[in-house]
Amino acid sequence: MKPDLEKIVLSAEQIASRNQEVAQEIDVHYQDCERDILLITLLDGAIVFTADLIRNLNVPLHLDCIRVSSYGNSTNPETAPRILGTLKSDVKDKHVLLVDDILDTGNTMKKVYNEVVKKEPASLKTCVFLDKPERRQNDFQADWSGFNIPDEFVVGYGLDYAGRYRQLPYLATLKPSVYS
Ligand code: 5GP
Ligand code: MG
Repeated sequence: MKPDLEKIVLSAEQIASRNQEVAQEIDVHYQDCERDILLITLLDGAIVFTADLIRNLNVPLHLDCIRVSSYGNSTNPETAPRILGTLKSDVKDKHVLLVDDILDTGNTMKKVYNEVVKKEPASLKTCVFLDKPERRQNDFQADWSGFNIPDEFVVGYGLDYAGRYRQLPYLATLKPSVYS
């Protein structure tokens, strides 16, 4: 796997340390919240970030998942994001935190946000591991974001290329030869 990598963008240590900061900010935001929050993670990409984030959070939470698909075996959005399946939780009157791996065009988060808002949560916030502001196609902004990164396709820490590299504990770019 390592020969496929071009460079490390974020080390495991950088990621772990930033996750603690983000979790602390989220804890502060919800500290006076009387009810457990509902954290909804967007599968598959956010699985690793979510697993680490929730272990740094003190706010009592319930976890639910939505599966969203927007990429095929390419590095560009194939189609409009599709929400696959439904939530097991009732969202109405809950304090909901949506978690995704990366805010790129913003289309995925915007779509999921609009779907969740229709279910009348008490509040709705968003947290992403990565943000690529240059690529945005709408006005969507996350309430919390781990890192801003330039417009480069990255893998690792849950993010894949053609289904691979999710298991890398760091974030990296791939050699151009991998795509050809
Ligand atoms: P958006 O809808 O904001 O354009 O993109 C959201 C989804 O596209 C992310 O959740 C992620 O799955 C995928 N994506 C966007 N940029 C990258 C990237 O640099 N690397 C990988 N592996 N996936 C990305
Ligand atoms: Mg994703």
